[in-house]
Amino acid sequence: MIVLENVSKEYKNGVHALRNVNLTIEDAEFVYVIGPTGSGKSTLIKLLDGEEIPSSGRVLVDDVDVGKLKHAKVPIYRRNIGVVFQDFRLLPSMTVFENIAFAMECVGESKVNIRKRVREVLELVSLSDKAKAFPSELSGGQQQRATIGRAIANRPKVLIADEPTGNLDPEKSIEIMELLERINEEEHTTILMVTHDSTIVNKLKKRTIALEEGYIVADIMKGGYLQHD
Ligand code: ADP
Ligand code: ADP
Repeated sequence: MIVLENVSKEYKNGVHALRNVNLTIEDAEFVYVIGPTGSGKSTLIKLLDGEEIPSSGRVLVDDVDVGKLKHAKVPIYRRNIGVVFQDFRLLPSMTVFENIAFAMECVGESKVNIRKRVREVLELVSLSDKAKAFPSELSGGQQQRATIGRAIANRPKVLIADEPTGNLDPEKSIEIMELLERINEEEHTTILMVTHDSTIVNKLKKRTIALEEGYIVADIMKGGYLQHD
């Protein structure tokens, strides 16, 4: 469970990126985070993955007070959080299999476990036939699926997807959405998806948290979002 209690974030330059945010996200929820540029979406993500600490208030992920983590503990904590970006960020010199396996090698998984799980993940993201391909040999949709596979390899409890469909056409975007829904259902992963894509938000209705100038201005259960920005 994710809990934000009276969370505010003021950067050194005096910008109030988040203001008194209160939020509870249950295990295995699927939540959209929307809002215009500068509304605090990235800051929210950074507080959740331990990149930034709140100026006041508490960020709790499964009872861990993320803002109080010792520096050395942050990488271990991050294993619980998978992150996917709009621009894929696959390692170009590694195949799809190796990219996913690498995430598991980094946390010291055994070769046997890695092989088994990577196969399972490739199946889940429908890339079994691309295991030996390099990122440059994949389409955008395939690269994003590989990135998602890498992010879930270590079975994180939370998957944060930052504009995962931002570089994809509508058809590929729907494919990515279906994949995220499958991960949410089959692996019971909590999913936070930051998006500007009002078509998706209105079509695939899910809990939607809207930020504006650092405030939560709406938290709608499966209500969709009818406003355009
Ligand atoms: P979003 O992801 O919705 O675009 P951000 O969380 O990136 O919003 O930014 C919220 C506000 O905080 C913006 O005004 C932005 O300029 C500011 N901001 C973000 N990161 C920093 C930083 N490292 N230092 C100073 N100001 C920042
Ligand atoms: P997907 O539906 O998986 O996103 P596409 O329909 O875009 O894939 O691509 C179909 C095929 O064309 C794929 O097998 C892919 O490998 C290849 N392909 C598409 N775009 C590129 C690209 N930019 N570079 C190399 N191969 C590509």
